[in-house]
Amino acid sequence: MATKKLVIATHNKGKLKEFQELLSSLNVQVLSLGNYPEIGEIEETGDTFTENALLKARLTAEKTGLISLADDSGLEVDYLNGLPGVKSARFAGEPKSDARNNQKLLQLLEGVPPEKRTARFKCVIAIVKPDRSEYVVEGSCEGIILDQERGTGGFGYDPLFYIPELKTTFAELELALKNKISHRGQAMTKALQILERMF
Ligand code: IMP
Repeated sequence: MATKKLVIATHNKGKLKEFQELLSSLNVQVLSLGNYPEIGEIEETGDTFTENALLKARLTAEKTGLISLADDSGLEVDYLNGLPGVKSARFAGEPKSDARNNQKLLQLLEGVPPEKRTARFKCVIAIVKPDRSEYVVEGSCEGIILDQERGTGGFGYDPLFYIPELKTTFAELELALKNKISHRGQAMTKALQILERMF
């Protein structure tokens, strides 16, 4: 029997690891753009998370001929009117750097009191089949931005993203627990229901 395959349209190893954990209940081989170097980096030219997730999943399904899943995610900080938003990965410019992004965020929020540092991670997941049918789901997770980094796990803005109910940052959480509550985890729970029907 041929192995069932799903391609995650990402080069990001941190994200891929989270997706592999989230998809472990599905009996499928999880591939990523690392398996298709010829596709290269897909430029995120959309103005919304949904546009970007769809353009990545569409292109990957077209190039690989396999069911493809893409997410677009980012951090929206209320005090910054939703920034860094779709620009989260490159907030501090090129080359993209989590350390410089976090530094920039801290600078922009210098002196801002905790009650005004509210933020949320958002994630939109698009699934596109080779026959071009499309599915879109989303998830979000509320928190506040600390005034210094805490924890060494995760990636991106995790050390600054604090969940008051859990008294912890994303970077201090076990991956399995982060996946349960995170924006990506919530969107993925919905995506899994779609994928279970597909495979
Ligand atoms: P994307 O690859 O365009 O979805 O970029 C998402 C960017 O948003 C990442 O590079 C991170 O900067 C940020 N981001 C998204 N999800 C997370 C997360 O779970 N933790 C920390 N940062 C995240």
